[in-house]
Amino acid sequence: MADKQDERKITPRSQDFAAWYNDVVLRAELADYSPVRGCIVFRPEGFAIWETLRDELDRRIKKTGARNAYFPLFIPQSFLDKEAQHVEGFAPEVAVVTHGGGKELEEPLVVRPTSETIINYFFAQWIHSHRDLPLMINQWCNVVRWEMRTRLFLRTAEFLWQEGHTAHATRAEAERETFMILDLYRAFCEDFLAIPVLTGRKSAAERFPGADETYTVEGLMGDGRALQCGTSHFLGQNFARVFEIRYLDERNELQHPWQTSWGVSTRLLGAIVMAHGDDQGLRIPPTLAPTQVVIVPIWRKPEEREQVLAAARTALEALERAGLRARVDEREGVTPGFKFNDLEMRGVPLRIEIGPRDVAAGEAVAARRDLPAGQNKSKLKMEALAESVPTILKEIQRNLYEQAKSLRDTETRRFSDYASLRQQMEGEGGGGFADIHWCGNPVCETTIREQTRATCRAIPLDQKGAPGKCIVCGETAAERALFAKAY
Ligand SMILES: [Zn+2]
Repeated sequence: MADKQDERKITPRSQDFAAWYNDVVLRAELADYSPVRGCIVFRPEGFAIWETLRDELDRRIKKTGARNAYFPLFIPQSFLDKEAQHVEGFAPEVAVVTHGGGKELEEPLVVRPTSETIINYFFAQWIHSHRDLPLMINQWCNVVRWEMRTRLFLRTAEFLWQEGHTAHATRAEAERETFMILDLYRAFCEDFLAIPVLTGRKSAAERFPGADETYTVEGLMGDGRALQCGTSHFLGQNFARVFEIRYLDERNELQHPWQTSWGVSTRLLGAIVMAHGDDQGLRIPPTLAPTQVVIVPIWRKPEEREQVLAAARTALEALERAGLRARVDEREGVTPGFKFNDLEMRGVPLRIEIGPRDVAAGEAVAARRDLPAGQNKSKLKMEALAESVPTILKEIQRNLYEQAKSLRDTETRRFSDYASLRQQMEGEGGGGFADIHWCGNPVCETTIREQTRATCRAIPLDQKGAPGKCIVCGETAAERALFAKAY
């Protein structure tokens, strides 16, 4: 039996990160390209990760009091035209339907790029009194933003997401909601996706079109580029005004409510691949892995086969009873070595090997995906798998987070002179987070973007240090900001 692994080698990360990323996503069968440019197919292995992520985030969002609803895919074009910044921001990337049922439509329909307009049209009809507030709606759906440069999960014309939309009686309440969701996203990224994130405010140039403020959670990928993992927008009263949402307050006076919107998307699947993957392929955190534990039975002689398979099935039952997602790799015609490489490429967090000698000793060999070869194996007692394996999975989860955090911390640098910032950002790769004083002037931001390709990712909320001098113009800068090249 020949191992075919060699002809299927994935590009090493250090050689070409983008090629590595595509190899991993395609070979691990997470996604595939579609015949329509810009669109992708979520294959079962990728969709299973999305479902797990979605179910957990949905549970956390519902705990905040928001309820799920579903609004139409098509939005009258005139709705989008109502908010000037909103239409300006989204016009270049909207798909418009002009014909239906063989006839030209009286009014063209926009395929939703986001749903503020349609949802606020209904909020205007549903909100009359202060007793109708707060109104908190969440929607899981697809959106379309016309996009020709496809990158699997990261940049696609159609993607899946959740979008929350809320209306509140006071400014303070809406701001509290904005920050509460920001922190919910932070905690979700860190404890469920094992991705450490920075939180902060976006610069005006990076703000959501139509929002007063946009707040973000930003992660750092394995190549030192940043990825926006989620955003929470404080919309002020902008949409309430243009959609004429009004309520009678306790003194019987008409008021506009204060609003928020917030979302995360299937980009997070790309973040999981890029934050955790290595040269062998995917490394999926146990919380998300479609298969958390795979059991590989190993035998040479036919008489060993039944004995080893029986032990593997007993182990599987124990793991399933412990509530774990486990399976036995019973593939025939490939060597154990081929299976090991294949399962590592697919990112299964823990592999349990059972051979004839293990059966005799009542043991199994556990191999962790998060540790390098040579340091990743240990022996487990067969009768105690239901206790030992969940503990190991928790350690893997924590270790993946620690590894990502250690990279993020190493790749976050303070700069006080512009020449060193430029030098750091030179070249094709990432460059990490640059922590710099910036005066807030968009001209300095543009200079940095044009000369280094780094953009303002976040202005941290907890500014502890003293004011300094802007790294570009030398004027007084009240705040520090994090710049990075980003996806
Ligand atoms: Zn400046």
